[in-house]
Amino acid sequence: MLNIVIFGAPGSGKGTQSDNLIKTYNLFHISTGDVLRDNIKRGTELGAIAKAYIDKGQLIPDNLMIDILASVLDDHREEAANGVIFDGFPRTIAQAEALETMLQERGTSVTTVVGLEVPEQELIDRILLRGKLTGRSDDNMDTVKNRLGVYHNQTSPLKEFYQQRGLYQSIEGTGTIEEIFDRIQAVINPLLEA
Ligand code: ATP
Ligand code: MG
Repeated sequence: MLNIVIFGAPGSGKGTQSDNLIKTYNLFHISTGDVLRDNIKRGTELGAIAKAYIDKGQLIPDNLMIDILASVLDDHREEAANGVIFDGFPRTIAQAEALETMLQERGTSVTTVVGLEVPEQELIDRILLRGKLTGRSDDNMDTVKNRLGVYHNQTSPLKEFYQQRGLYQSIEGTGTIEEIFDRIQAVINPLLEA
C-alpha cells in the first residue's frame, strides 16, 4: 500500500495535488475538510458541530476527528486497497499518533509525508481568491488569520514528528500546478521502485 499524508498550511494546495495523486497512483482520497463540509451540506448532527469550529477557524476536537477518520477508513476498505491520500489529517500530534495506531491495527503504515511549503502572503492571497470564487464560508480575512495561527501552533509541529521518523519530504509549493506535481512525483516514484 502507498499511504501518503499530504501536509501543509491552509491554502497550500493539498486538495489540488491530491487530485493529481489519486489519478496517477490509483489511491483513495480522504479529505477531512471535504467530509466535514459534506456533513454541513447534508445538515447532519456532525455537520452542525463542525460548522461552529470551522467558521471560527478552529480545529474540530481530536477525539471526534479521530473517530470520523477511523469510520471513513473502515467504510472504504476496498477502494483503499492500493493506498490512501490523507488530506487535512493529521493536524495535531494526537491525530498523528492515532493515525499510526490505526494503520498499524490495519496492517499498514504511512509511506511518506509530502509537505507543501508556501510563503504566508501567497497562502493568504490564494485563500481570499478561493473565498471569492467559491464562497467557502471560512475563506475570509478574519478566519484566515485564525487558521494560520492554528496551523503554526498545533499543526506545524508535525513536521518535526515526521522528520524524526524519516518520512517528511519537503516540496516547494509555488509555481504551476504541473511543476509542483512533477516535484511530488520525483519523491514518490523512487518509493515504488524500492
Ligand atoms: P487546503 O486549502 O490546503 O485544502 P484548508 O485548511 O483550507 O486546506 P480543509 O482541510 O478543507 O481546509 O479544512 C477546513 C476546516 O475543517 C479546518 O479549518 C478545520 O476547522 C476543519 N478540519 C479539517 N480537518 C481537520 C482535522 N484533521 N482536525 C480538526 N479539524 C479539521
Ligand atoms: Mg482542502
